Amino acid sequence: MNAGDLAAWIRHAADLVSADTERLTRLDAAIGDGDHGHNLDRGFSAAVAALPEDAPPGKTLIAAGRAIVSKTGGASGPLYGTALRRTGKAFGDAEDIDAPLLGEGLRAALDGVRELGQAEEGDKTMVDALAPAVAAYETALADGADLAACVRAAAEAAEKGAEATVPLQARKGRASYLGPRSTGHLDPGAASTALILRALADVAGEGT
Ligand code: ADP
Ligand code: MG
Repeated sequence: MNAGDLAAWIRHAADLVSADTERLTRLDAAIGDGDHGHNLDRGFSAAVAALPEDAPPGKTLIAAGRAIVSKTGGASGPLYGTALRRTGKAFGDAEDIDAPLLGEGLRAALDGVRELGQAEEGDKTMVDALAPAVAAYETALADGADLAACVRAAAEAAEKGAEATVPLQARKGRASYLGPRSTGHLDPGAASTALILRALADVAGEGT
């Protein structure tokens, strides 16, 4: 993937978030404060506006991440912004992102989210979508899959991971204030992570 593909990812993610704003907000209204969809919609619109014209992939994602941190309200803004910035940093000055390097970028995103939010798998957060996604990516890569197939595996795992948050009790973030009443609902941040990775899979699939 080149810088144009990564910019296309951010644009496509912004479109998917925008189309799903009401659903994400509804999910957050059930166990949070009902702002997740609007937070992300604002953040990803800012990321699209901040995409540089002529920069390598790493700088492209760092610019997007920075815009998300500054324009997204809520806990999710710094977390998603950190994820994109860490991915961009992992890419360094590379012009072409191959499957192993994209895997390193996704692993760096997960590490950044974990460091900042201190959530583990099972805490009912975006980590429950991102961690299995990164694991599935790495497994597919080790099995010799190409980049598009690795990202597809990651997106599918994220979707499953998000669905699996339904019975969990939240132990991090605003939903944790509800205690046992947070069970029985899909975590909004896990749902949006699945959406963002689906956007990446769509864009990666177009190139093959
Ligand atoms: P807020 O909770 O501040 O209103 P959002 O509604 O935008 O922020 O985002 C909520 C989502 O953020 C949650 O569904 C969860 O996935 C994620 N989240 C919250 N706290 C953490 C954390 N400490 N680590 C990882 N993800 C978190
Ligand atoms: Mg919220």
